[in-house]
Amino acid sequence: MSLTPLRQVFPWRIPFAYCLLALFLASCQTTTSTSEERPPNIVIIFADDMGYGDLGTYGNPTIRTPQLDQMAEEGLKFFQFYTGASVCTPSRAALLTGRLPIRYGMVSDRIRVLFPFSYKGLPEEEITLAEALKAQNYATGIVGKWHLGHLPPYLPLKNGFDSFYGLPYSNDMIPTPDAKWAPPRKYPPLPLMDGDKVLETNPDQRLLTKKYTEKAIDFIEEHKNEPFFLYMPHSFPHVPLFASSDFEGKSSRGLYGDVVEELDWSVGEVLKALKARGLAENTLVIFTSDNGPWLTEKQEGGSAGLLHQGKGSTWEGGMREPMIAWWPDKIAPGTTQSLATTMDIYATAVSLAGGSLPTDREMDGVDLSPLFNDPTAEIRDEVIYYLGAQVFAIRKGPWKMHLKTLNPYIGEQAVAHDPPLLYQLEHDPSERFNLAENHPEVIAELKAILAQHQSGVKPVQSVLDDIDESYFE
Ligand code: MG
Repeated sequence: MSLTPLRQVFPWRIPFAYCLLALFLASCQTTTSTSEERPPNIVIIFADDMGYGDLGTYGNPTIRTPQLDQMAEEGLKFFQFYTGASVCTPSRAALLTGRLPIRYGMVSDRIRVLFPFSYKGLPEEEITLAEALKAQNYATGIVGKWHLGHLPPYLPLKNGFDSFYGLPYSNDMIPTPDAKWAPPRKYPPLPLMDGDKVLETNPDQRLLTKKYTEKAIDFIEEHKNEPFFLYMPHSFPHVPLFASSDFEGKSSRGLYGDVVEELDWSVGEVLKALKARGLAENTLVIFTSDNGPWLTEKQEGGSAGLLHQGKGSTWEGGMREPMIAWWPDKIAPGTTQSLATTMDIYATAVSLAGGSLPTDREMDGVDLSPLFNDPTAEIRDEVIYYLGAQVFAIRKGPWKMHLKTLNPYIGEQAVAHDPPLLYQLEHDPSERFNLAENHPEVIAELKAILAQHQSGVKPVQSVLDDIDESYFE
């Protein structure tokens, strides 16, 4: 009896084995390429009304911010980083649309921000960063203060976010004598929301930072296996100030210091959560603030350090902010003097996610990522400073020209400057020495750039002006 070769008995066997091997290799290939191609997570932590001089790493002598100091050591620290506006609503709009708020009416010369008595919010046509990243299959969540419209059509879940936990607007819009900008009795109770639902009203604000931190970590845990965008706009250090019992009374800077130190703790917890899940090397974390310190709050407001003025103004203290970009192995530790803005964060995140910027509208941001390897790269050399619906100032390179100046919070009227004021910000960061007379050629150049910008801005109706007027009766 002769032995029959196996392949004659089971002729399908070897090809089958090859098939299995091929399938196995293909699955390995797929797994490998998926993990390589997974775009980075994006985390944006946005303080409220925190000034340029409020962190240890930016020179504050008494507020302890070890977590942010460490983040700055490991990441890229910006010295010339700007927000899109010097108050909450338009600043948040700029960050989340990558566009100046003037382009879609999120500005007004009468009503600075959205209120509980506002009828509108971010126009539906705007493509928020959450929507842009969702189109790239990101999970999207916001934990914190929204302030782009509190009525149902304008809430975060209508703007590309899968989840929302936090306040629909500022923490001072409460029915107490602390409320500033409308008769206090007329403010409704402050809602703490989960999605579109109100969880409770007038929540204990001492617990807000802790609750936001827990929710942010829950979000990271829940979405650790997919690309995610976590937007974390804190309610503080906007007044009224509250810190939890772990922080209250601990800072030598008083309650403001307690609040900032708790925010610093929170940043550390978020970074820890990313590291513990092996996500740090695939996550870009940004920390910055929406506008400068509210100086009229005196010791309860922050500090812009050596910069002039604060919230509500187009002096440097109103719109230049601390900014730290952290991404281990991808961002070389260092500092940068390059100009950048919150609108650039939008362009950067969309690009990292593999998307592209909309081409049917003017965009105002540029991709920051060349700075990640070369902090001397020049990303942009112009910044335009709007206050309400008007351009008040423009910067090109080191030169800043003010056409008008104003701080509305101290009851000033706008002052028009003709000739404009001109400062060399690298020599004179505090804007003290007007050089207009010496440099008419710089003024002419800046005016020409501004005229070109303004020719590309079409007037649109203000969203902020649409309010229940009875609140002012
Ligand atoms: Mg603010």
